[in-house]
Amino acid sequence: MTTTQIRRRVDPRAERAARTILTGQRPRLLRQPVVAAVNERRRDPRALRSAALVQSQPRPRYDWTRDATSPTTAATVGIAIAAAPMIPLKVIAEPAYLVIAMLDRPGGEIGEHDRQVIAAARLLADAGGGAVVTVCTGSGEALAEAGSDRHVALPNHWAEDYVPERRAAAASALMTALSPRHILFPDSPDGADVARRLAAAAGERLFTSVQSLGPDRATRQSAGGSLETAHRPTRLMTVAADAFAPLDGVRHEARPLDLETSSVAAEEVLPRLGGVRRLAVDPDALSLSETDFILSAGNGVTDWHSFADLGEALGATRAGSRVVCDAGHLPRERQVGASGTVVSARCYLAFGIAGAPQHLQGITGVRHVIAVNTDLHAEMIKRADLSVVADAQAVMPALIRLIRERRHD
Ligand SMILES: Cc1cc2nc3c(=O)[nH]c(=O)nc-3n(C[C@H](O)[C@H](O)[C@H](O)COP(=O)(O)OP(=O)(O)OC[C@H]3O[C@@H](n4cnc5c(N)ncnc54)[C@H](O)[C@@H]3O)c2cc1C
Repeated sequence: MTTTQIRRRVDPRAERAARTILTGQRPRLLRQPVVAAVNERRRDPRALRSAALVQSQPRPRYDWTRDATSPTTAATVGIAIAAAPMIPLKVIAEPAYLVIAMLDRPGGEIGEHDRQVIAAARLLADAGGGAVVTVCTGSGEALAEAGSDRHVALPNHWAEDYVPERRAAAASALMTALSPRHILFPDSPDGADVARRLAAAAGERLFTSVQSLGPDRATRQSAGGSLETAHRPTRLMTVAADAFAPLDGVRHEARPLDLETSSVAAEEVLPRLGGVRRLAVDPDALSLSETDFILSAGNGVTDWHSFADLGEALGATRAGSRVVCDAGHLPRERQVGASGTVVSARCYLAFGIAGAPQHLQGITGVRHVIAVNTDLHAEMIKRADLSVVADAQAVMPALIRLIRERRHD
């Protein structure tokens, strides 16, 4: 596509104003044409359409994300694109007080619940010029975009060998070093465990499962939602899942704080433990709702030996669509979907699954979906972040070969 198809947009009012000469009683217009000072580029729908075309046979398919966001497309059709507006950086240089958010960071990523805890911490911090200090393994831009002003990075290997005693000792060390006004934890199995240990060690009251929060009032529900308990926000609180909306469109500093938490915790805690070691777990023994990596089969899978081998090679939990479970290829408890299990894995690798609404309902909480299907138009391909349009029976052994080669190397 060439830029000759792009015409300048005419602004009659600007042109008229430029040609007007105010002499005497009446305005007079110059005869020669004047190029208007402000000229926008005109969009050519035909040029845009052909630039977005990714496939013409058997049906045309368009990728409209290429319209405005791709610089190459823009260059092809001659559109000037303004750089994406930068979210202004919010800096809290001299915080009046600190609110710590102790995060789980499951699997090395800031999870939804972690973001919600940061959002809850922001409510307390923003009420009086305070700053949010996040504490977890690793670091990264995601923390700044979730609302963290300062960050304390725990050693990376703590994510691997999870020892709640050690985290509680680190939290206690931070409590002494930073004197925070509040410390919030996710009300998750790990977060709640650490919070209770810290509360017991510090002899402080812990307000759990907070569902609404303000500088003067924290509430939680109990008795099946029929009873609400309110309290002044205590220093230690756990935040219920899905009670606070994660922040969007913010950018804070997430400035690293260099505090020595690891040595204190390691020295004090590890000698008291009899030892920490990883146990080999059969991925198929894990519950579908808890596992992080799912290999799933649909009616497009016929090579069940390769499917089992691939599950083993990947260390993924096997699952399937209802058709597969109905046919007896997998037990009923392995069915994903509205009438099966709703999963929230980090990765869902789907072989030969069409993506019926009842199946997709079961994977709404999945972070990354990879689909292998012979049909480019399958709903599962639309849902996927990465798609392989190929025969599942060919992809599975190829993948196994690749994994074995990599392991061998
Ligand atoms: C009340 C109700 C509840 C339901 N609950 C559930 C549920 O919980 N879970 C669930 O899964 N379903 C559920 N269903 C069924 C659902 O509607 C679909 O029928 C089912 O999900 C289809 O399964 P499938 O995608 O494996 O099979 P199909 O619909 O047969 O799709 C097979 C897919 O494999 C692809 N394919 C074919 N050959 C190959 C190949 N060689 N390589 C790669 N791809 C290939 C095809 O292109 C197709 O996309 C429910 C239905 C009802 C009515």
